[in-house]
Amino acid sequence: MTGPGGLPMPGLARMAEVTRAISEAARRGPDEAVGRWLIHEPWSIVGQRNTVKAKNRIVMPAIPTGLASTQGDATDAMNEWYRARSVGGVGLILVEPAYVVRDAGERDSSTVSGEFSPRLVIDAKSDQKALRSLADAIRSSGAVPGISLALPSERDIAAAAFSDFKLWITAVAVASSACDSAGFEVIELVFSHDGLVHRSLRRATNRRTDRFGRGEAGRFRLARELARSAVTAAMSPVIVKFAIDQRRWGGLNAEAGTRLALALQDDGVAALEIVGGDRWDDASLQLSCGVGEGPVIARTSGAIHQGVRIPIIASGRLLSPTGAEETLRDTNATAVAMGRALIADPSWVAKARAGVEEEIVPCIGCLGCHSAMDGGTIGCVVNGDEVHVTGLHVQQASHPLSIAVLGAGLPGLEFARVASSRGHDVTVIPGTMPLGGVTGLRSSVPGNAEFGRAFLYFGDRLREFGSGLGETIPDDCDLVVDARPLPGLKLSWAVGRSVLTASSVLGRDLHQMYGIGRRVAICGPGSLAGEVALFLAGWGRRPTVVVPGTSDNPFPDAHPMHALRLVERLIGYKCDLVTDATPVEWNETLDRKHRLTVRRGDGTTAVLGPFQTAVEATGWSEPQVTGPTETVVDGTRTIVLGDSQSFETVRKLVHWANQLARTV
Ligand code: SF4
Repeated sequence: MTGPGGLPMPGLARMAEVTRAISEAARRGPDEAVGRWLIHEPWSIVGQRNTVKAKNRIVMPAIPTGLASTQGDATDAMNEWYRARSVGGVGLILVEPAYVVRDAGERDSSTVSGEFSPRLVIDAKSDQKALRSLADAIRSSGAVPGISLALPSERDIAAAAFSDFKLWITAVAVASSACDSAGFEVIELVFSHDGLVHRSLRRATNRRTDRFGRGEAGRFRLARELARSAVTAAMSPVIVKFAIDQRRWGGLNAEAGTRLALALQDDGVAALEIVGGDRWDDASLQLSCGVGEGPVIARTSGAIHQGVRIPIIASGRLLSPTGAEETLRDTNATAVAMGRALIADPSWVAKARAGVEEEIVPCIGCLGCHSAMDGGTIGCVVNGDEVHVTGLHVQQASHPLSIAVLGAGLPGLEFARVASSRGHDVTVIPGTMPLGGVTGLRSSVPGNAEFGRAFLYFGDRLREFGSGLGETIPDDCDLVVDARPLPGLKLSWAVGRSVLTASSVLGRDLHQMYGIGRRVAICGPGSLAGEVALFLAGWGRRPTVVVPGTSDNPFPDAHPMHALRLVERLIGYKCDLVTDATPVEWNETLDRKHRLTVRRGDGTTAVLGPFQTAVEATGWSEPQVTGPTETVVDGTRTIVLGDSQSFETVRKLVHWANQLARTV
C-alpha cells in the first residue's frame, strides 16, 4: 500500500488507510464472503436442535488466558481480550478451557488456580451475568461465541470410581446448560491435553479392567457418555476436541481416531476439533507449521475426515494464511483452529482478508505467551498491543519530536513503530547489536530462524512510517529511549584472553570464527548457554555446555518445550552437556589447553578440559521490571527501557514500549 507517486505513506495516514481496509474486511458478513480463499467462506455446525453459521472458517481454539477472576468467573479483561479477536474477524471463538466442577464444594481455590491460573470454572453457581457478558462481547463483534469445557487434568483415570464418572457426566450436563443459558452457541468438550478423558482414551494411560477400560470400546466409553450427556442437555451444537497423538506410546492413531470420530458422530456430536500434537513436551513436532515443512500436523488431522460426515476443525500450529488455506484445500478439514497466530495478532483474519498479509504481526514461536500457565496473564512478546485490533486508537502526536532509540531489540522496535506511526521523527540506533537486538542474535542459532520474522515485520513497518536507522544521536534530538540490554556483571571466573561473552560470539561470520578455538566451554545458568553451543557447533566447533541445572531440567529459564528441543538439538550436534556445575576458575596455559574448575551442588569441585576458549553465557542482566525510568543525560531527556534475553521480560518491555510510545 503506497501513497501518492508510489511513495510510502507516512505514519497515521498509512495506519488509517490500512485500518480502513481491515475494518471493512472484518465487517463483511457471510454473504459478501471472498470466494477466492476457502478460509473466508462461511460454514455451518448442525446440532441436534440448533444450527450455527460462522462467517468464515477460522476458529480461535481454547487457550488459557489467566484473565478469570480469582473465583473462576469471567471478567471485563477477558471480555476485552476475546472481543478484540471477534472484531478482528474470527468466525468462531471457543473461549478458553472452562473447568467443570462436580459440585459447589469443588469450586475452591485449588480448582480455580490449578495449572493455568486463574482459570474459568463452570458449575451451576457460575456467575451467569459475567458469562453472558462474555458471550455477548464475542457475538456483538461478529463471531460465534463458543466455550470449551474441560475436566480438571489433576484427576487420575486409574483411581476414579464409577461414582466419580457419574458425577462428571452429570456435571458436564449442568455446565453445558449453564453455558447455553449464558448465550454460548457452541459447546466444546475438551478430550485432549492430557486431561482425564484424554488419559482414558490412551492405551498407555488407561489400564482399567472394567467397562471404562479393557479394549477400545471401553476406553472410548467415558468420552462417549460425556458427549451424550452434553448433547442431551444443551440446545447448542456440541463439538468435541481430541488428539491424534500416535507419536506418543499408546496414543490414538488416525484409524482409531476415525473410529472415535464415527462413534461421537453417532452420539450426536456436531463437529470435531482434531489436534495434532497436543503437548508442549512433544519435541518431535515442528514448533511452527506455518513455515518450513508446511502444515504437516494439521494435514494429519484433516485426514481423519474419511467416512466422517460432521465438520472437522484441524488444529496444530498453523500460523500463516497460506498454511491455513493449504490445510483446507489439501485435506478434508472444514475449518482451521489458529491459536498463537491469533494471540500475536487479534486482527489476523481481517488483515488476511484485506490482502495486507504483510501487516500481520508474526508469531515467532517463542512461547512467551504461555506464562499464563505460570500464574500470569496471556500476552505476546512481539505485539505490545495485543488487545486492540487496529491502530485507530493511536493518536497523532500534538508536538512531533525528534526521537533516538538506542538498541534495536523488540522493545526498541515496538517503541519506534508506534512513535513513528504517530508522526514522531524516529531514528533507531542499533549500535553493536544487529537488528533485533538480543533476540536477533538468538535468531542466528540453528532452529531459531523463526525469531527473525519479527524483525522483518518491524523493518517493513519502520520503512513505511519513514523511520530510519542511524549511527549517532541526531543533533536536534528531543528524547532518547535507551532500549539496550543493561550491562552484565563481570564474573570472577570469566577473566582471561580466551574468555568471550555470548553477545560477542552470536552472529559472528566465518572469518570471525578463527578467534575461537575448537574446544569451547560455554558456561551459563540457562538456555543462552545451549544456544551459543548450537551456534558454535554449526560452525564446526566442539562445545561443552556447563550449567548449574539438573540433568532433568538443564535450562530452567526456557519454556519446557523449548528446553526439550534445545537438549535434543545439542545431542544431535554432539555437544557435551555438563550439569550441576558452576564455574569457579578459568586457568589459561601457554599450550592453549585451558582448564575450567567447577563446583558441584554437593560442594565438591571438578576440573574440566582441555578447552581453547570459554564463553560466559550468563546473559545480559535482567533490566529492572517495574517500568521505564526517566533521567537526563547530557542535557537530553532519556527514558531507560532495556532489553532482555528472557522472553517473559521482553514481553513486559514490549508492552511498556507500546504504552510509552502512545504518550510521548
Ligand atoms: S508470545 Fe511468542 S509464541 Fe506466543 S503468540 Fe507471541 S510470538 Fe507467538
